[in-house]
Amino acid sequence: MSNYRPPSAMEIPRFAGIRTFMRLPHVTGLAGVDVAVVGLPFDTGASYRVGARFGPEAIRRGSALLRPYNPHHRINLFEFISAVDYGDLPVVPGFIEDSYRRIEEGLAPVIGAGALPLCLGGDHSVTLAELRALYRRYGRLGVIQVDAHGDTWDNYWGKQYTHGTVFRRAAEEGLLDPDRVIQIGLRGPLYGQEDYEEGRRLGFDLVPMDEVRRLGLSEVIDRARRRAGEGPVFLSFDIDSVDPAFAPGTGTPEVGGFASHEALALLRGLAGVDLVGADVVEVLPAFDVAEITAMLAANVAYEILSLIAVKRRD
Ligand code: MN
Ligand code: MN
Repeated sequence: MSNYRPPSAMEIPRFAGIRTFMRLPHVTGLAGVDVAVVGLPFDTGASYRVGARFGPEAIRRGSALLRPYNPHHRINLFEFISAVDYGDLPVVPGFIEDSYRRIEEGLAPVIGAGALPLCLGGDHSVTLAELRALYRRYGRLGVIQVDAHGDTWDNYWGKQYTHGTVFRRAAEEGLLDPDRVIQIGLRGPLYGQEDYEEGRRLGFDLVPMDEVRRLGLSEVIDRARRRAGEGPVFLSFDIDSVDPAFAPGTGTPEVGGFASHEALALLRGLAGVDLVGADVVEVLPAFDVAEITAMLAANVAYEILSLIAVKRRD
């Protein structure tokens, strides 16, 4: 029996109460916490549309309907994990390096207490601060990145820290084990062929969307599992990996992406991977329609939470 779990929807309706992720208790103490959901409401790293600062709030609202039992894995999550909504970290709008420092400092006690951070972005730039914080405890990390973009460009407008440069910076800083990094779902027009070659030069495995289609999802899942290997892994899910028909509320949409059921299936296939942290990023509610992006992001976070519970069960 875990310390922290959502209240029963049979006792209080799901639309009642103050919005936290999945109606979990808002707790900032860390005793007895296995997973802390942490909001990172920051969008200064965005290169196109802004507004992902409101992503965490939208994902929380979209998460109210989630139920504790995941039939795919045949598991009630909260029999195996105690989870809380830790709230948001105090980022500084307009100032990315200050925000990185605050995110890294804010995550340190969570990670230090042995809780796994499941972060809600925010644009993708926030991931660099998460990786820095996790590296301090776990050393070099494997990464499974699901994204329409590799985010390995060198700079935008001469600036090193943006949502489009985050995995290149992480590799340069030595936070990653490149042999255990895979990027899935890349697509769309590039600045040049070198955009993909740069990712491979960093040592990453790239699976662009046309290759996903050619291989099929189960082969891609096998490849991701092999690539991630046995060590600690960070799972980074950029909502723009999903087609804008299913996820219009995002900063740099690319047509031709995953259907939402494919994204869920991909995540479900990752059971057993040794996750030490994860995020769901790039939700931009001002461009959303009928909350479909926010609900999808909530379900993505739920599938990640399920992976953590399954790992503890098995
Ligand atoms: Mn991204
Ligand atoms: Mn992207």
